[in-house]
Amino acid sequence: MSLIVQKFGGTSVASVGHIEAVADKVARFRGEGHDIVVVLSAMAGETNRLVALAHEIMEQPTPREMDVLLSTGEQVSVSLLCMALERRGCGARSFTGGQVRILTDESHTRARIREVDSTRLHAQLEQGNVVVVAGFQGVTENGCITTLGRGGSDTTAVALAAALEADECQIYTDVKGVYTTDPRMVDGARLLRHITFEEMLELASLGARVLQIRAVEFAGKYKVPLRVLSTFEEGPGTLITLEEEEMETPAIAGVAFERDEAKLTVKGVPDVPGVAYKVIGAVSEQGIEVDVIVQNAAAEGSNDITFTVKRGDAERTRQILEQVMPSVSAQSVELDTKIAKVSLVGVGMRSHAGIASRMFKALAGENINIQIITTSEIKISVVIEEKYLELAVRALHGAFELEKHQSGEAET
Ligand code: ASP
Ligand code: MG
Repeated sequence: MSLIVQKFGGTSVASVGHIEAVADKVARFRGEGHDIVVVLSAMAGETNRLVALAHEIMEQPTPREMDVLLSTGEQVSVSLLCMALERRGCGARSFTGGQVRILTDESHTRARIREVDSTRLHAQLEQGNVVVVAGFQGVTENGCITTLGRGGSDTTAVALAAALEADECQIYTDVKGVYTTDPRMVDGARLLRHITFEEMLELASLGARVLQIRAVEFAGKYKVPLRVLSTFEEGPGTLITLEEEEMETPAIAGVAFERDEAKLTVKGVPDVPGVAYKVIGAVSEQGIEVDVIVQNAAAEGSNDITFTVKRGDAERTRQILEQVMPSVSAQSVELDTKIAKVSLVGVGMRSHAGIASRMFKALAGENINIQIITTSEIKISVVIEEKYLELAVRALHGAFELEKHQSGEAET
């Protein structure tokens, strides 16, 4: 008999009808003899509704009161599910995060979990009950309600799975799992059966819609096997695990992309120590996240420094650079907001030479100009003109035959 943590997102509990369907599913698992801990999000749209109510009253409500307000959404869904389970003859008890004692730090609206007390959960499981826990919330040492940041129920599920040493943490959502790329962009996008934590983190731009990225980091750290699967369609979903030595890993897991980026270039700075620090330091000091950074090899004693930021930060970054310009004797600052980043991701890349050249060949074949190239152990990224994004993703997906079943993957 195994212990499974099952998390259902907002779209899975969007109405009483949906909650009844979740109850059917949970009761079925319970009937098979598993111990079940369920974690729920608020009903779809509810958290947004609560945020809007607060903003009707004031622009910036105190974070403490925001948490008291937002945590109510999950309390509604857990109680309703317990009722639906009870009606099916399946014993169930609901708990808020505070009742379990999911202890967090004091950072209201984005609290981090410090400790989970599993005593109460174990006691309920021993009595044969399904335990239903409100996601997204915890409590501080002083008994104040906290929330874990939007999408935080995923993290609750992983934290409970870690504390209970669950056999698996299943995240039920409205997609069938993690795909080789966005299926809305590429028809041949294929559902992955396995993916490593590292790959999942790199595929965040695709995966963020599926899983809160913090939950993936947490699961990797505590070695919690995590499975993403659909509430609405049967199927094995995608299992996110540690890299297994014996598993012959396909070279490429998927093609990730980011559209909302902008590129800035500081031109003609002198080739002397401290310039990169002055440029990038000024930007990051303002809390702006810098992504790809490149500096060309110096020509005639001067350099260009190019980097990317989120498109929403582009204008502010340009203003900062213009202020810094005189102190680094830069010739000019250029901003391009029409760029996108495409990345090939795969742990198998480590042992495969020639991936990069195959990637560049595919892009050349479509006449797509590469503006910047960066690599890490399990990722190669290129910055290109935004209008070629879809073409590039399709070309790479095709060139690496990602639509085909890969070696090392069990057939679905
Ligand atoms: N209800 C919260 C949100 O909408 C938490 C979650 O769904 O995971 O962000
Ligand atoms: Mg969610």
